Amino acid sequence: MFYKSTRDDSLKVTASQAIAQGISNEGGLFIPESFPDIKGELESLSKLNYIERAKKIFSFFLTDFTEDEIAYCVENAYRPEKFENSAPTKVVKILDGEKTIYSLELWHGPTCAFKDMALQILPYFLTTSLKKNAQGKKAVILVATSGDTGKAALEGFKDVENTEIIVFYPENGVSPMQLRQMATQEGNNVCVCAVKGNFDDCQTQVKRVFTDPEIKAQLAENNMMFSSANSINWGRLLPQVVYYISTYLDLYAEGEIENLETPVNVVVPTGNFGNILAAYYAKLMGIPFGKFICASNSNNVLTDFISGGTYNKNRPFFTTNSPSMDILVSSNLERLLYHLSGNSTESVKKWMNELNTDGSYTIDESTAEKVFELFAAGCCDDEATGKTIAEKFENLNYLLDTHTAVAFNVYDSYVENTKDVRPAIIASTASPYKFSKSVAQAIGLDTDKDEYEIIADVNAKSGLNIPESLLALKDKEVRFNNLTDRDTIKDFVLTKLGINK
Ligand SMILES: *Cc1c(COP(=O)(O)O)cnc(C)c1O
Repeated sequence: MFYKSTRDDSLKVTASQAIAQGISNEGGLFIPESFPDIKGELESLSKLNYIERAKKIFSFFLTDFTEDEIAYCVENAYRPEKFENSAPTKVVKILDGEKTIYSLELWHGPTCAFKDMALQILPYFLTTSLKKNAQGKKAVILVATSGDTGKAALEGFKDVENTEIIVFYPENGVSPMQLRQMATQEGNNVCVCAVKGNFDDCQTQVKRVFTDPEIKAQLAENNMMFSSANSINWGRLLPQVVYYISTYLDLYAEGEIENLETPVNVVVPTGNFGNILAAYYAKLMGIPFGKFICASNSNNVLTDFISGGTYNKNRPFFTTNSPSMDILVSSNLERLLYHLSGNSTESVKKWMNELNTDGSYTIDESTAEKVFELFAAGCCDDEATGKTIAEKFENLNYLLDTHTAVAFNVYDSYVENTKDVRPAIIASTASPYKFSKSVAQAIGLDTDKDEYEIIADVNAKSGLNIPESLLALKDKEVRFNNLTDRDTIKDFVLTKLGINK
């Protein structure tokens, strides 16, 4: 299996090259040249556990990894002691009126957000890839984060040999717990820095540093290379495909769905479009998913795109109570556009150029029709998010974090409008305790107090277990308080790496 770029079809790189490099030289994203059809293997896969399913699925895509290498990566990444319930994922069945919901809780890992699912394994993929492609080189991982990727990447890469990781986050754009998680990060190869700007500023500047030929040359002289832990990296997306396939198989194995052709809708609270794209990839491989319902907060650029075919980031940026979705440029949409335009690198290049210069683009009719057929979309603001948390807690005795609440809200509207009551998997992306103030407020608790008191109150009212890893941060020393302008990210990186300009 080889990989091409969304902007250059003639490219042909191996999986390990794609993972090591993160993003293609001309700025495109790596995609596999084809997707294996696993329909015929679903029955046998359904009898395996998560780890065995993961190995099998990875082996289709990581064809220059040996079986032992894949086993090593998977078994270390998903060690039972790393996850609250021993298994990486947990599904909670919820009957809400005529709706059958399977809440796919992806936040029982070390940093309490779904990003752990991919970022626990990416360091293993990356170090294995570096051994094949860049013997002796140090990988410098640059991360732009809206809060959760940063911590999950730091935790995944801390003290991993031959790597150094620098995380940039928007100065006023993350929750207090997310900030605490990052600022107290341990490890000798880690660094965290706030940026005066929003997430899009962070992501744009980091992408620019990545693809700057001059900086790349400077790194090479010092025996280093850049890599990415953002969802532009194929090694981040692939592990996410696994949990959609695995969850569907669990529904089948447990008799929740009749057979392996039963359609199930998928609802995803979306920011960079990575998580929902992974669900689409599962469908390409033969999982009979129905609609993909893309849920946004007030930064609803995707809602408009999926309803009308025009992507327009020229709009106000809102700082919301679901900060990990405060994004106006969803990087992974580029991959979807590549697939739905019939692998047209020309179209993708044109649209991405227009996005760069005008801040907006409109896709052609035939591509748009495919988008409309596959996807539905909706959005809700902070107030509606809070109301949804309150309502689902009262009526279903189920406590949602703010991001997952956006998904539940949008799903309710979707069913109301379409009467499509096929069962649905809703991706539950974070622990409510990562956004405790907003959650506490929503369920009527006093929030004018210390964060850990709020957490204790939420626990007392809901009975939901407080993750050990969040409790442990309480008395940890703050190690980082760097702040940089968005235009000086480049200098910050070079100085940090000890490379003189
Ligand atoms: C990152 C994140 C999202 C958005 O996921 P994308 O893959 O960027 O679309 C949603 N919820 C939470 C809690 C997140 O951390």
